[in-house]
Amino acid sequence: MKKALITGYRGQDGAYLSRFLLGKGYEVYGADRAGDSGQWRLRELGIEGRVKEVALDLLEASNISDALEKIQPDEIYNFAAQSFVLVSFTQPVLTAEINAVGVARLLEAVRKTCPKARFFQASTAELFGSTGSAQKNETTDFHPRSPYAVSKLYAHWLTVNYRQAQGMYACNGILFNHESPLRGEEFVTRKITTAVARIKNGLQETVAVGNLDALRDWGYAKEYVEGMWLMLQQPEADDYILATGEVHSVREFIAEAFAAAGMDLEWKGEGLDEKGIDARTGKVRVEISKEFYRPADVKELVGDAAKAKRVLGWEPKIKFKDLAALMMDAELKRQENIKVDL
Ligand code: NAP
Repeated sequence: MKKALITGYRGQDGAYLSRFLLGKGYEVYGADRAGDSGQWRLRELGIEGRVKEVALDLLEASNISDALEKIQPDEIYNFAAQSFVLVSFTQPVLTAEINAVGVARLLEAVRKTCPKARFFQASTAELFGSTGSAQKNETTDFHPRSPYAVSKLYAHWLTVNYRQAQGMYACNGILFNHESPLRGEEFVTRKITTAVARIKNGLQETVAVGNLDALRDWGYAKEYVEGMWLMLQQPEADDYILATGEVHSVREFIAEAFAAAGMDLEWKGEGLDEKGIDARTGKVRVEISKEFYRPADVKELVGDAAKAKRVLGWEPKIKFKDLAALMMDAELKRQENIKVDL
């Protein structure tokens, strides 16, 4: 039986990967810091109690090496992160401590205690930042535009360095946005789907968002974790992009979410005064708030996952429209206490 250690296992990806690996017969060790903020995900996936819990904070080197020494995992998936881009502008040092130096602590502990373990780093499309609108691939230059992306850039290159300099099996998955009903509510897609369900049920009047024109490549997290696992099953370690190749705006996601809940939205006004209005009732449902704008945003991110398809045989099936529909369906069911198919 293979042993896998997943850091940040109660986050969106960690929860999906835990279930995926349990299904493959792995002994799964889940590492997270104190608290139970993501326990609901394990509960909803029906895997509560099946993952062996390990208390581990990426800020503390000694608990990392203690855990690795004890478990001796075959595979390590590093998802633990301060993963919210907007917060990184106000907490750049903490973001760097967790996302950058934390990965140095982890890789160094792997090198010393279990150098044969295969290592996956959750890298990000945000690394590309302002490198234009063409599809990004594994050879595109990076130009990060947030403290989050800068911290992840360090971790990205460090992972490459441990592969090249230390001969470790270490891979970066350069992940474009991937969402699901298990996404944290602070992220824009899930914030929208929870709000739309509440509006539909008369529990909320409006939802406030930031930049409607941000263009992103949105895939389904449940499919992405399989791509991450495939990266660790190859003869040689390498870096891969996971993406759908489709690009859509936040504005489009909002319209899809309302449509999936049976409401048509019309847009009126411009800039901060723009509003999304229910076409049937004339009620304002979407407002713009400066509070949710990033000080420096990335205009457009779309990925080319041809290498992942060619080498790993990985290809996403759920694209933008289906993703919005399945997230809305889950949200409406949750609010009616109906079990969600995740
Ligand atoms: P997530 O839901 O925010 O999960 C992150 C996890 O890391 C949470 O369980 C969090 O615990 C934990 N964590 C935070 N600080 C920690 C620390 N100091 N020590 C140990 N654990 C810590 O993120 P996700 O969406 O699953 O994403 C997984 C990874 O992929 C992240 O590294 C993210 O940056 C990266 N990524 C995600 C996307 C995406 O679209 N989802 C795209 C590109 C890259 P708490 O609940 O206690 O905070």
